[in-house]
Amino acid sequence: MGSIIPVFDGHNDTLTRLYSQERSFFERSDSGHLDWPRAVAGGLVGGIFAIYTSPPEESPERDPYYGLTITPAGYEVTQRSPVAHEYAKAFTLSVMAYLAELEEEGDGRVSVVRSYEALERNLGLGVLSMVLHFEGAEAIREDLSDLEEYYAWGLRSLGLAWSRPNAFAHGVPFRFPHSPDTGPGLTTAGKRLVRACNELGIVVDLAHLNEAGFWDVAQLSNAPLVVSHAGVYELCPSTRNLTDAQIEAVGETNGVIGIIFEPINTRPDGKPGADTPLEVIVGHIAYVAERIGVDHVAFGSDFDGAEVPDALGDAAGLPKLIDALRANSFDDEAVEKIAYKNWLRVFRDTWRQGDFGF
Ligand SMILES: [Zn+2]
Repeated sequence: MGSIIPVFDGHNDTLTRLYSQERSFFERSDSGHLDWPRAVAGGLVGGIFAIYTSPPEESPERDPYYGLTITPAGYEVTQRSPVAHEYAKAFTLSVMAYLAELEEEGDGRVSVVRSYEALERNLGLGVLSMVLHFEGAEAIREDLSDLEEYYAWGLRSLGLAWSRPNAFAHGVPFRFPHSPDTGPGLTTAGKRLVRACNELGIVVDLAHLNEAGFWDVAQLSNAPLVVSHAGVYELCPSTRNLTDAQIEAVGETNGVIGIIFEPINTRPDGKPGADTPLEVIVGHIAYVAERIGVDHVAFGSDFDGAEVPDALGDAAGLPKLIDALRANSFDDEAVEKIAYKNWLRVFRDTWRQGDFGF
């Protein structure tokens, strides 16, 4: 075997998870999926680090299984309520402050990247690159008056919606089997937000967005289409997954789809299961590669936000997924594209050049 392949991953919830815990990102843990020692062990050189605002403490929706009905063919979860802007903003700012502390504690081992140049430099230096992402746009004011402040701080990727409605867009409720066509498209404010992200050079992430919203962005945006963590609807018909037409639209814009590792969004039966083999994830990767080319598929683990098969375990297990790709006859060039080069290209093509090049 050759040397370890670097991995850039499209989605993790590690910041939101660690923020409320005592342990340090720099100590190896058996809990969760990602910390510095496990990143190094698995070859993880960077990722999109999400901030996700949970429902307020008094809300029953804080329980992820709230309103879950198991149906003969799968499951349904009741539509989640919106969260208030002020609440989301206060929470998001605290997690950003935590991220700044984490970066300082890292003493050069990690860096919040604000430019493509910095991303490339980190790769050469062995510094872990953290791309700041909001999973749902609730922390942004409807009039967008605070978007530039977030950008100046380091926001470089924005999910328009998590699986709930907000002022800009409508996320898909969790359902299986069910198409991602679950409601209306972007609001007027949502369309303004997409244009503003294009102007600033912020990646617009379409994961969790419903199909009408997806097509609105496809029509409006001048940047590559990006879906950070999702699967293929034809292989696993959940609302979170992409139809063939959506997959083709991503390919046409030179965009990328990060394939999620989560069993309920990859298995054909939509069921959870830590015993799910890695070939199931590889099947989604191969499907996208065959349909739109190997330049448009990547990883979107959802580490620390969702179940990951035991065969992979955590970030330290990433080389096992690389081996599974090779076993599926992806050659070295293809593996490198899937593992990190495709994500890097999309950032290069989307972020403004020469900005915040520190
Ligand atoms: Zn998610």
